[in-house]
Amino acid sequence: MIIAIDGPSGAGKSTLGKMLAKKLNLLYLDTGAMYRAVALAVSRAGIGFDQTAKVAEIAENARIDLVGEPDALKIILDGDDVSVDIRTLEAAQAASIVSTISEVRKIMVEHQRQIGMSAAKGCVLEGRDIGSIVFPNADIKFFLTAKPEARARRRHTEDQSKGRLSSYEQTLSEINERDQRDVSREDSPLTIASDAIVIDTSELDLTEVFEQMLAKIDEKFPTAG
Ligand code: C5P
Repeated sequence: MIIAIDGPSGAGKSTLGKMLAKKLNLLYLDTGAMYRAVALAVSRAGIGFDQTAKVAEIAENARIDLVGEPDALKIILDGDDVSVDIRTLEAAQAASIVSTISEVRKIMVEHQRQIGMSAAKGCVLEGRDIGSIVFPNADIKFFLTAKPEARARRRHTEDQSKGRLSSYEQTLSEINERDQRDVSREDSPLTIASDAIVIDTSELDLTEVFEQMLAKIDEKFPTAG
């Protein structure tokens, strides 16, 4: 079974994707982490993001592995655990820039399809283009969204709990900037697939969204849970 979860940043995709993967015993694939790892590899190589051919070469040659259980997922870049390094504000912005490069997207999409298809029981993939490009025939597609202020508030609280220093205003403007880039890029912009189930999580807590998602899955695949 392939479950696609798309939406802007801070809508709850990662947390809910992990919860679903655990509950249904599926692999969990955080595709944003892959773009973040490419961006980190590019920065480490001292290459400018405007040197698209070199950036694509790095994306092609980088070995990105996601290992471990959903809630202890480690992101390994060329053998180095970069799980913490890819979560900075800079890495998020860099990923957002790198992900506008078509050649990079082509390589990542191919990689994501392979991982998804080789998962024994199936996979929950979370990102921006899963239901539209990576798995247009996914068994079920969710599009999670929320008001920018709600998303920034959540992200800010999460950052603070992890000891990252940033103001709410800074987080909000960072989220708005990334959203703008995601919806306006030429290749695979963030869109709602016509057959996606849209859930606005602004006024809902995690459990409520999780229950709604499970109910939709159960409706379509009564034996999945
Ligand atoms: O989801 P996350 O915030 O970790 O993603 C980092 C960036 O990677 C996003 O801002 C987005 O620009 C990009 N991305 C993408 N397509 C995906 C996943 C992430 O373009 N499937």
